Amino acid sequence: DETEAETSPEWGPGGVDMGVPSVARVYDAILGGKDHFAIDRVIADKAMAVMPNARTGARANRAILERGVRYMAREGIDQFLDLGSGLPTARNTHEVAQQENPHARVVYVDNDPIVLAHGRALLAENDRTRVVNADVRDARDVLTRPEITELLDLKRPLGLLMVAVLHHLADADDPTELVRTYREALAPGSYLFITHFCDSTPEGRELEHLFLSTLGSGRFRSRATIEGFFAGTEPVEPGVVLLPYWRPDTPVTDESAYAGLTMIGGLGRVPQ
Ligand code: SAM
Repeated sequence: DETEAETSPEWGPGGVDMGVPSVARVYDAILGGKDHFAIDRVIADKAMAVMPNARTGARANRAILERGVRYMAREGIDQFLDLGSGLPTARNTHEVAQQENPHARVVYVDNDPIVLAHGRALLAENDRTRVVNADVRDARDVLTRPEITELLDLKRPLGLLMVAVLHHLADADDPTELVRTYREALAPGSYLFITHFCDSTPEGRELEHLFLSTLGSGRFRSRATIEGFFAGTEPVEPGVVLLPYWRPDTPVTDESAYAGLTMIGGLGRVPQ
């Protein structure tokens, strides 16, 4: 019976299958948000069993996102392209950027329909910010879509965020080449901002196994590969580091709080 199928608890808003986990929702569950389903929470709980510090790690990622956007805004960047932006949470890119510069423009790109639905609701009254549904692997589409190019001028310096998204691309997607394509499209003075799972700890390898077997993505790559994403840019101090150590607001005094964390990242500037 069609009516029953439509109201079945298996199906969430917008025809989203609540029986299939999504990266955006599992990440929301790890962060401690509320925009996820039971199936996502099961995976988040397993991740936190493998790595007791997983929530700290996810929050460290949100925290560097805020510091990185603030840094770029203070360097004069007034337009941001946030690829794989995720579900709205505390201190989103546009909030941080527009706090520094009310005229800053932000386009969020994600391929998860729930991100689009929540994002549009949040941004209904903000004409300088937009959420676009696109696949970041298709750089040509992203860089030429009128929805994006109407708001962002690629001939001017821009902040490009690929924060916690490249590890959800397969090796076959050639993330190094993809980043190069984006970087080559950026005007001098632009910034590339990347964070990525690094395979430097035993917990990392166990988490990778969990994510790949449940979500089909979540690859932990080597420091050399991650540093290679920044080719053709000038590193912003202190370079590519464990996230809490990238320009912390207050110096890190208790290193044990970050034991086992596996994400590294930083910013590179496209030279003049
Ligand atoms: N950037 C946010 C952050 O760091 O807090 C969210 C990161 S979340 C772990 C990864 C996001 O990338 C998810 O929202 C997921 O839907 C999105 N994503 C994964 N693969 C994608 C693709 N091929 N195209 C667009 N978005 C993608």
